[in-house]
Amino acid sequence: MPLKKVIQDIGRGLLHLIYPKLCVDCHKALVGNEDVLCIVCADKIPLTKDADRIDNETALRFAGRIKFKHAISYAYFREGGLLQRLMHLLKYKKHRPIAVFLGRRLGHMLKNKSWIKDIDVIVPVPLHPTKVKKRGFNQSEIIAASMAEILNITLDTQSLIRIKNTESQTNKSRAQRAENMKDVFGLSNSAQLKGKRVLLLDDILTTGATLESCITTLQKVEGLEVSIVTLGIAID
Ligand SMILES: [Zn+2]
Repeated sequence: MPLKKVIQDIGRGLLHLIYPKLCVDCHKALVGNEDVLCIVCADKIPLTKDADRIDNETALRFAGRIKFKHAISYAYFREGGLLQRLMHLLKYKKHRPIAVFLGRRLGHMLKNKSWIKDIDVIVPVPLHPTKVKKRGFNQSEIIAASMAEILNITLDTQSLIRIKNTESQTNKSRAQRAENMKDVFGLSNSAQLKGKRVLLLDDILTTGATLESCITTLQKVEGLEVSIVTLGIAID
């Protein structure tokens, strides 16, 4: 090993001793290959139980509303739960490594699904440019990019665009949300997606109004087929 590299490694080791990287949830020092979450906390991510079933909870949430090929979520999102805490740190404390960490995990989960090899392109749900400017990033884009890297599938962040900046959906009924989400998305280059099998990614699935609106827009493209993946599915 070259001396320069040895010194760099020692330097990094010392830095780590003075400022150890901490688990973002339990704040214990991370060891070995641990990143973002310690192994104990990472094991507590409440993974969805029925992801392999064609009629899993995610698919059921869209059944009868839109046409899609597959739908799957990685973990359960509960009020006060681990995934909610992580999303809060990501969105409001701008802790981007969380999105990379979760995107990779999602990628590894999808790697085992037989249908994933049929996907041509991964498209994250876009944020309105005003919101990206305010937050500094689109968390779904980071999750999708990390997932795409693991799966070795092309990422497309250009073709689907957000043309309407919607207000907060939090205090709205399902019907109000659906109305609010009408004509929110547009296509900037539909030729790019013609005949493609698209995997559309959103961070957290609640009523599904956002994804439904995205899919309605995407399906204007000739021969396009959509599958859905979300990091979390909100449950009571
Ligand atoms: Zn921990």
